[in-house]
Amino acid sequence: MTTSPTIDIKSLQLGELEDKVRELGQPLYRARQIADWLYQKRVQSFDEMTDLPQGLRNRLAEQFDFSKIDIVRVLGSHDTTRKFLVRLADDSLIETVLIPASPALYGSRSDRRTLCVSTQVGCAYGCKFCASGLEGFSRNLKPNEIVDQIIAVERESGEKIDNIVFMGMGEPLANLDNVMRAIRIINAPWGLGIGARRITLSTSGLAPQIRKLADEPLQIRLAISLHGATDDVRNQIMPINRRYNIETLLAACDYYTSRKKQRLTFEYILIAGVNDSDEQARLLASHAKRLSAKVNLIPYNTVHGLPWSRPSEDRQEKFLSILRERGIAATLRREKGHDIDAACGQLRLQTKRELQTANS
Ligand code: SAH
Ligand code: SF4
Repeated sequence: MTTSPTIDIKSLQLGELEDKVRELGQPLYRARQIADWLYQKRVQSFDEMTDLPQGLRNRLAEQFDFSKIDIVRVLGSHDTTRKFLVRLADDSLIETVLIPASPALYGSRSDRRTLCVSTQVGCAYGCKFCASGLEGFSRNLKPNEIVDQIIAVERESGEKIDNIVFMGMGEPLANLDNVMRAIRIINAPWGLGIGARRITLSTSGLAPQIRKLADEPLQIRLAISLHGATDDVRNQIMPINRRYNIETLLAACDYYTSRKKQRLTFEYILIAGVNDSDEQARLLASHAKRLSAKVNLIPYNTVHGLPWSRPSEDRQEKFLSILRERGIAATLRREKGHDIDAACGQLRLQTKRELQTANS
């Protein structure tokens, strides 16, 4: 009798695939063949790996999962941001967002396509402005579920993705082991081959994990969701700040920048009357200066059922100018229309509400 398979084949590193084929009495090059089927040819079953001996295919199928994810809903069109609602093997729903060329985005040039991937189902951190945290936390994504978001969107859209941001649903640093496993597959030449500098991880401020990430050799980029320049403001909207306050967070960022060549980015959502004062801008500038960080200002996207809104365009520009006067490399996302560009978590929420209404 065999035990039920649990590890997914798309969670393994090349070295682990090599260990496995060796254990099964096969030559090492089989591992590269398997990786090639998974990440270049992108088959969806062991049976399609036609240059492997049938016996090996059977053994692999007994020992590993080969789970599929399905795109069940798409919002947006070819030239705009497109949102994909993804159903996982256990029927959980997550979101993945394809962002076309946008000069203000992390590591991106005008010809780049960026994918915003999720790392958890829901989020436990409960930031007051965020749709992802509204229904709490369900579970961590497995490495294969992270990698498969990229493969599924490339298949569905026919586009090649060359920039990855971990800014979908969930807190990546709360699922660091699985996220790092996925990143190694995304980055590896035998995997998806996306350069480390084209991969950005965003965190709400888990200071100890920022230090852990600093000790990782990969030169991925890090973005910090700051959203407030003082503890007063941050405490109001981000519960995590009561655990790791701004000074604790900035000290972890100091450590990060001492270990990495990449500059940090501070993300700062502008929320009217909450964090958009001149005073906050001046303090934000001094934090950014301390870390030589870039600042990315994002006008708040309204979330159905939440009370927050974005400041006027004048206020947004004033905030930006205070940063620039102080020599900070800052950008402001000026896109119009909230509908489709709305932040991650909302399509899932909307779909769940529609389903609830339909079922009741
Ligand atoms: N948990 C991580 C990564 C996912 S959130 C983090 O918080 O950094 C990705 C980004 O979207 C964060 O900067 C988050 O603050 C931002 N965000 C969440 N809700 C938003 C909204 N309604 N409008 C604009 N940005 C939002
Ligand atoms: Fe979680 Fe990030 Fe949303 Fe905060 S902003 S609730 S950490 S996903």
